[in-house]
Amino acid sequence: MKNHINLIGRLVVATLVLGACSSNLATGKQSFTGFMSAQKELQVGAEEHPKILQQFGGGFEDRKVATYVRNLGLQLAKTSEMPDLPWTFTVLNDPMVNAFALPGGYIYVTRGLLALASDKAELAGVLSHEIGHVTARHTAQRYSSTMIANIGVQVMGVLSQVAGLGRVGGDLASLGANMALKSYSRDQELESDMLGARYMVNLGYDSSALISFFEKLRAHQTLEAKKAGKDTAAVDQTSIFATHPRTADRITQAINLAKTKGKGASRRDADEYLNVINGMVFGEGAKEGRVQGKVFIHAALKVRFEVPEQFTLNNTSKAVLASDGQGATIEFSMAAAKDVHDAGGMKKFLVEKWASSLSQKNIEWLNINGLRAITGEGIVWTRGANVIVRRILVERDKNTYWQLKFEIPTKRQSALNEPLRTTTYSLREPTANELASAQSLRVRVVTIGPNVTYDDLVKSMAVDNLKAEWFMALNNLKPADPLPIGRRIKIIK
Ligand SMILES: [Zn+2]
Repeated sequence: MKNHINLIGRLVVATLVLGACSSNLATGKQSFTGFMSAQKELQVGAEEHPKILQQFGGGFEDRKVATYVRNLGLQLAKTSEMPDLPWTFTVLNDPMVNAFALPGGYIYVTRGLLALASDKAELAGVLSHEIGHVTARHTAQRYSSTMIANIGVQVMGVLSQVAGLGRVGGDLASLGANMALKSYSRDQELESDMLGARYMVNLGYDSSALISFFEKLRAHQTLEAKKAGKDTAAVDQTSIFATHPRTADRITQAINLAKTKGKGASRRDADEYLNVINGMVFGEGAKEGRVQGKVFIHAALKVRFEVPEQFTLNNTSKAVLASDGQGATIEFSMAAAKDVHDAGGMKKFLVEKWASSLSQKNIEWLNINGLRAITGEGIVWTRGANVIVRRILVERDKNTYWQLKFEIPTKRQSALNEPLRTTTYSLREPTANELASAQSLRVRVVTIGPNVTYDDLVKSMAVDNLKAEWFMALNNLKPADPLPIGRRIKIIK
């Protein structure tokens, strides 16, 4: 019976492959875009767009910046092989550095990426590269393979639910986000850089900006790895290097293949670009809350807590996550008050709703800095080890519930017991002073004066740590580089 089904499965796939290749306008190649017509691409993009916005902090509200990016994107897209696609360019209100595209001409850059770019040519390079992924129909190809991969994922979701892991299946990101964060192949990257160089040069922009921006991305990547205490070689799954695996050599090769040399394209438009991003929010905004070393503080949610020394905090759109790099994690999120009330109170919510797949024990009521809280723990077998899951629900008021979840491999329990207790009892409202210190940082463009030293500039960087590294990454400088008087550079204030 099983074999029979497999055979039918193979026949269906074979039919799709045969019927599904389409010739590509930008590259002239045949490509496997099995599940997708051009019309379907538009539909998928339109369906996934709101989900991407939700997942990545929404559209950036700074109109000046958003309009600037959209106008440049549209100008570049007009010079591509698909000028009539209803192109959509969105700046995501996300401090991470990323750029990606969905089928149908939906292109995204984060404000974190915009802070890193130094001129209009570098931004043009990023947008053109993403346009290239759409015109070469890489996004459509990827969607087709994601469809196949997702069938497997669904099955896994059901299995892990049966195995008592509860929410694993439900925690899957939307198809759009899966697709957006999936890696392209190196050949697709080469093709996109080649097309990107072509579109940039069409507007007179210097295609070597693809290289200068890539170097900034590298410096930023090293900085992020250092911040997280990781091996600098490691590539984060959600970084731009995971989605766009490129090297400087391959970009140079792509620029050469584009055969655009000698066309007099040398525009960089640095002043114009710097004027647009001057004053732009940098890092986590007040709306998202801020990580300050081992402390998380959120003005709107009126919450503050700290994690143990060995943990690194990461603020995402849905939760605040911290990890010690050895399997122990801390997750902070909000529980919907309605869910707590509907469950019939905090205890029932904890035992029945929140952790239905887990038999909770050691349930006890706590008083955390004057707030009512309840906690319980259970053990799950995950990633080849027994892991203790402890949950804590805190009632700030009848409309606001905080939840903390610790996952601790059993063998690390004794070492982490006390530090995590400290984290639990650090949950409280921030003071006025703490809130003031958590205001958003901004990008400031300054002109180097005659008596300004490198040390002065580094000291003026208002980032929590790695001031020198941030200064150099933002301005594509190395420690020995001279600081020419009159040059405009970016600092963080
Ligand atoms: Zn790419």
